[in-house]
Amino acid sequence: MSVALITGGSRGIGSVIAKQLAADGYNIAICYSGNEGAAQKTIEECKKHGVQAIFIKADVSNAEDVNEMFAQIKELLGPVDVLVNNAGITRDGLLIRMDETDFDSVIDINLKGTFLCTKAAIKDMMKNRSGRIINITSIVGVQGNKGQSNYAASKAGIIGFTKSVAKEYGAKGVTVNAVAPGFIQTAMTDELPDTVKDAYIKQIPLGRFGTPEDVAGVVSFLASEKASYVTGQVLEVTGGM
Ligand code: NAP
Repeated sequence: MSVALITGGSRGIGSVIAKQLAADGYNIAICYSGNEGAAQKTIEECKKHGVQAIFIKADVSNAEDVNEMFAQIKELLGPVDVLVNNAGITRDGLLIRMDETDFDSVIDINLKGTFLCTKAAIKDMMKNRSGRIINITSIVGVQGNKGQSNYAASKAGIIGFTKSVAKEYGAKGVTVNAVAPGFIQTAMTDELPDTVKDAYIKQIPLGRFGTPEDVAGVVSFLASEKASYVTGQVLEVTGGM
């Protein structure tokens, strides 16, 4: 059975992606940064689909944690066939008030974390001449957003990274794509003031916010055989925003 790793799979979009890929028949590994209860709950729900599922505490911005996580997954489930780089944070603020640490932590977790996990996954994928890497970016990385220069830079970086790695490893049977969600209802977006939410919804042709399930469906497609000739792409899941 193939193995899928979803980083930041304890909550929000990552948790729903993990459950969708479990329903698709993958054995599941998720990592999380601190919320063990949520990670445990996601894993229990994945197991209901009759697959194996494990959770590992690992900071994706720490190379040692990442390498140790990949070694554990290989020992317990086998090499990772599908990597979903989903772990991400925001530290919003206008540029003039943005601390260096707010910039660095967002770049480290969102962008460097994607680099470290992809690097750790790629060797086995090359050896197996098969693999799927799906990077969760954001529409903010395409369009920019006031108060999110750090986040936008990290997500735009993920798009450039995706396109480059797709070119490097296509010949080895590895596809690399990015999914760019728009406004998806999760804890990350629940924090926004109602006025900001109202302004967003006016810009969405489909007239509603997205759900984590909307994103998970696209990830499921990109992981599947149906997407075997798709690489280096950014699929926007934005309701047309
Ligand atoms: P969320 O609910 O805040 O969940 C974030 C997840 O990342 C949690 O599982 C968290 O673990 C994990 N995480 C945070 N820092 C980590 C680290 N250093 N190492 C490992 N795991 C870490 O976020 P979300 O809204 O589901 O977003 C998921 C992804 O979608 C992110 O990349 C985000 O940028 C992207 N996205 C979201 C939206 C949206 O509208 N929500 C839109 C576009 C893109 P703990 O549970 O342990 O804290």
